[in-house]
Amino acid sequence: MNFFEVRDGELHCEDVPLARIAEAVGTPVYVYSTATLERHYNVFQTAFAHRRALVAFAVKANSNLSVLRVLARLGAGADTVSEGEIRRALAAGMPPQRIVFSGMGKTAHELAFAIEAGVSEINVESEPELDLLVKIAEGLGARPAVTIRVNPDIAAGGHDKIATGKSDNKFGVSFSEAERLYAKAYASRSLNPIGVACHIGSQITDLRPMRAAFAKMRGLVQTLRAQGLPVERLDLGGGLGAPYFDQPDPPSPAQFAAMVDEALDGLDIDLVFEPGRVIAANAGVLLTSVIHIHERPNEDGHAGKRFLVVDAAMNDLVRPAMYDAFHDLRPVKTPRAGANLSAMDVVGPVCETGDTFSRDSLLPPLAPGDLAAFMTAGAYGATMSSEYNSRPLAPEVLVRGAEFAVTRPRPTYEEMLAREPFAPWLA
Ligand SMILES: *Cc1c(COP(=O)(O)O)cnc(C)c1O
Repeated sequence: MNFFEVRDGELHCEDVPLARIAEAVGTPVYVYSTATLERHYNVFQTAFAHRRALVAFAVKANSNLSVLRVLARLGAGADTVSEGEIRRALAAGMPPQRIVFSGMGKTAHELAFAIEAGVSEINVESEPELDLLVKIAEGLGARPAVTIRVNPDIAAGGHDKIATGKSDNKFGVSFSEAERLYAKAYASRSLNPIGVACHIGSQITDLRPMRAAFAKMRGLVQTLRAQGLPVERLDLGGGLGAPYFDQPDPPSPAQFAAMVDEALDGLDIDLVFEPGRVIAANAGVLLTSVIHIHERPNEDGHAGKRFLVVDAAMNDLVRPAMYDAFHDLRPVKTPRAGANLSAMDVVGPVCETGDTFSRDSLLPPLAPGDLAAFMTAGAYGATMSSEYNSRPLAPEVLVRGAEFAVTRPRPTYEEMLAREPFAPWLA
């Protein structure tokens, strides 16, 4: 469910015609819907209203400060994986008691920053990290709350590059290591071990592997408690899939919550969730304009392949090139009834074959200048964008009802070049 709808023959975001945003801001541009973000957060949060649960939005999915503030005002926390993300969460108004710090290669500087910021939990992913954290905490005279991230050795489906829960992935420690590290953290006196954490992957649409992983986590909590160690928190990560085009509907947050209850089977514990994609994906689109249609005749001179060349590219939205992801492209103006569909490859202007959004998509007639929107681009879209090919970062716009605001402007070329001072001997 989202608030991108056709009204009077035109795609809108809430009450704003996308064409109006394109006119004011230019394309390509990311457009986010406040109502959709709010709805997705509330549905997720409500699914766990019967438990003590913190919903910590995974900032890496969408780190725009206004997006984070929308969620912060609803009571969301933040799952962060770098000092930069902690700074964003704080700047957006998320209290440190709702910020979780994850990541498998935190630097000493980042760990010290997180301790001083007073984040609610540092997820420790390895023994060297634990040892480093002990030293830093001692130096600061602090006793930070930590959880140990376990790798439950479960394949959860999804693309290889975003699976994190198998033992050959780089994330987390085994169950036996987790027991040992938990006891070590407890004995250190400079760390406050409060729980255990896991996160097995992203875009997960089958609840069974999650259920198996969570049941193993329940077992770990019980084992630790049986050893007399206090365990008050269980962080079950993110990973719930979002509905992309043409895919079977992923489980709803309510179904996910029912599964969690079953897997935990009455375990009394505070829960933390780190959803990213399921909150933000459907809340954003990447709005683009058609540059031209490029037709390449076959050898025999007959009509061959057709390419729809748009002004968005892999530097703006890398998921198709990187994860073989598919984003449905919807024309902003509804095609006239009975318009012929024809097969086209949708491509961007970057000089790489990888700059292909989709192959042989059936699309209505489109002309240069026509607007179209890549749907479901609110997660891992703008956050993964770059200036490859010296294309300025796509701006971000937030819509609320009939209003919209530019929440990250497109840099000018002057700004882009000014970031690179010449080496003094070249100046
Ligand atoms: C990426 C990530 C998430 C969010 O995953 P989604 O699939 O977007 O829900 C949560 N926790 C951790 C530790 C992550 O690395």
